[in-house]
Parts: sequence; structure tokens; C-alpha cells
Amino acid sequence: MPLLLTEEDLSRALEMASLIPAMRDALARFSRGEVVQPVRPTLKIEPAGGYYSTMPAYLRDDRGGALGMKSVTFFPGNAGGPHPTHLATVLLLDPASGALLAILDGRLVTEMRTAAVTAVSVDLLARRSARHLAILGSGVQARSHLRAVSLVRNLASVRVWSRTAAHAARFVREMAGTVACPLHTAATVRDAMRGADIVVAVTAAREPITDAVWLEPGMHVCAVGSSTSDMRELDAASVARCRVFVDSRASASAEAGDLILARAEGRIGPDHIVAELGEVAAGAPGRRAADEITLFKSLGLAVEDVVTARLAFERARELGIGASVEL
Ligand code: NDP
Repeated sequence: MPLLLTEEDLSRALEMASLIPAMRDALARFSRGEVVQPVRPTLKIEPAGGYYSTMPAYLRDDRGGALGMKSVTFFPGNAGGPHPTHLATVLLLDPASGALLAILDGRLVTEMRTAAVTAVSVDLLARRSARHLAILGSGVQARSHLRAVSLVRNLASVRVWSRTAAHAARFVREMAGTVACPLHTAATVRDAMRGADIVVAVTAAREPITDAVWLEPGMHVCAVGSSTSDMRELDAASVARCRVFVDSRASASAEAGDLILARAEGRIGPDHIVAELGEVAAGAPGRRAADEITLFKSLGLAVEDVVTARLAFERARELGIGASVEL
């Protein structure tokens, strides 16, 4: 019988420390062609102004593979209300028979796997000496990213900017003590970025919030927030100044507003993407010099959800958590 795993079950079954290497392996397999998945179809849902995507993937590996699909909604208008802006459900299937293995809450899966993938980018592309983190945004992803990045670099300080200053203050208040270094608010994006080695942008901005003159030599920038062709967090000049890496070239050409709009404005050419992160994980060149500015544009891939779901399912069975359900 399939296992039903709630958000609470998953908070016990999933650990960021084991998710990061699992995402690194999944991305390497994706870039080696060991994953079957389409670029996700996304429906615009009016009048609510939401989006609905379905994300199936099949990964081949020596553990029998991982097969499944995430159904995910993004309703920015939910902010501040009873529902989170992102809601999702993951179905995990048996690659040998197609039988349903588990139904999982996908909200926490999305929250954790996205931050784990960013941490992979930081590990592969940021300078080893990187100590100062700037977080732009203070929502769900900001929280998981603080934890994930702190696992791959020895952070000395974190500065957090958010569009609503009170939300940055709340973030600092609530997250203080969850990592070993001090957290501060920043009044502006520029203040947050000044002196930062790693910049994580996790906002729902539709227009750029950065300016290329605020980039500093040696920075690693993670642009996570925008995942549609008409949304972006980075200005075109910032994108042009960076050595750019993506999770998927195919997704980037369809969904990465940060890159698509920079190209439409003539600031970057068709070859501006250097590599997929999975290629770097497999040994392709990443950062070439300490003063180079690297950018990881994250869009989120179905294989990340399916591999996270498999990890959670296996761990839940070991721990004896979750409820068996007959459909
Ligand atoms: P939340 O709703 O929890 O937080 C949204 C954040 O965006 C808040 O800090 C909010 O600031 C800020 N924000 C909203 N509108 C604007 C704006 N116009 N300008 C600047 N800041 C703004 O969302 P999540 O943390 O779950 O997600 C953050 C972003 O990451 C979303 O865009 C989401 O689509 C994307 N995402 C990307 C994934 C990937 O795989 N790449 C996966 C999951 C999410 P404040 O509250 O201070 O007003």
C-alpha cells in the first residue's frame, strides 16, 4: 500500500546535510543524460494571478531508479494569508512497475531541495574562503537557504534585506541562533551586498532589484527567485558581468527571465551560459579565478523533487513513519 507522508513526517525524514550530496548527484546525472524529464508545462491561473506546473521525472541509477511527479502551484497573492505562496504534492512511483509508492507533501520538499541545490552551487563555485552571506528576501526560501549555505561554508556574518523591512527584522529575530554567526538586517539591497562573498536572491520580484555596480570581485550570486520568462531579480548588466551557470540549459532557455530578458536587451549572447551545475559537479571548469564573479541561475528541476521524495520515502520506512493508505 502507498505511504502517505505529511509535512510533519517529512520534517523528520529529510535532513539538509544528506540532501545536499543527493542533489549534487542528481544534477550530475541530469547533465549526463541519465534523467528523462520535459521542461515543465506551466498554466497561468486567472483571475487569481497564480501558476500551476506539473513536473514528472525519471532518473536511472544503480539503485533501481527514481520515478515520479510533482504538482506545484505558485500563487503570489497568498502572501500574508492562510496558505503559503507555494503548495505542492509529489507522487513517487516504482520504476519497475509504475505502482504508486508514496504521496508526499511537496511544499517542504520544494523548500528544502531548492536550498540544497543552491548549496551545491556555493560549494562548487564560491571561493573556499567565502564567509559573508547576503540574503535578499525573507520568506520560506530565505530560511532554508540560510541553513543550507551554512553547511557548505564557514559563515562569519549574514545580512538580510527584504522589501518589507519588518519582515527582514522578523527573519533576523527568528533565525538568530540557528546558525553560528551573527545575523543583521540591511536597509537596502546595496547595503546587504556590500562586502558579501555569497549573494542569495530569493524574492518574488518581477523587476530587477540589483545593480551591476554593486557586484564585487569574487562574489558568487545565486538567483533563485524568478522562474518564468517575464520575471527577473537581476538587471541585465549584472548578468553580463557574471560567469553564468544554470541547473538546466533547456529550462533556462524557456524559463529564466533573468537571462532571457538580458539577451532580449542585447546585453548577453547565446553562449553566455558556461555550463550546467551538473557538468561542474562532474568535473567541468567552474570558477577560474578568485576575483571572478560567478552566477548560478536556479529554476528548479523535477528530478530534484523525485530524488528528494525517494530519499524521504526510504528514510520514512527505516523510521517507521507515515501512514499506509489504500486508494
Ligand atoms: P515567500 O512568499 O515565502 O517569500 C517571498 C519573498 O519575496 C518575500 O521576502 C517578499 O518580501 C519578497 N518579494 C515579493 N515581491 C517582491 C518584489 N516585488 N520585490 C522584492 N521582493 C519581493 O516565497 P518563497 O520564499 O517560497 O519563494 C521565493 C521565490 O523563490 C519565489 O519567486 C519563488 O517562485 C522562487 N522559488 C524558486 C525555486 C527554484 O527552484 N528556483 C523553488 C521555489 C521557489 P517581503 O515579504 O519583505 O515583502
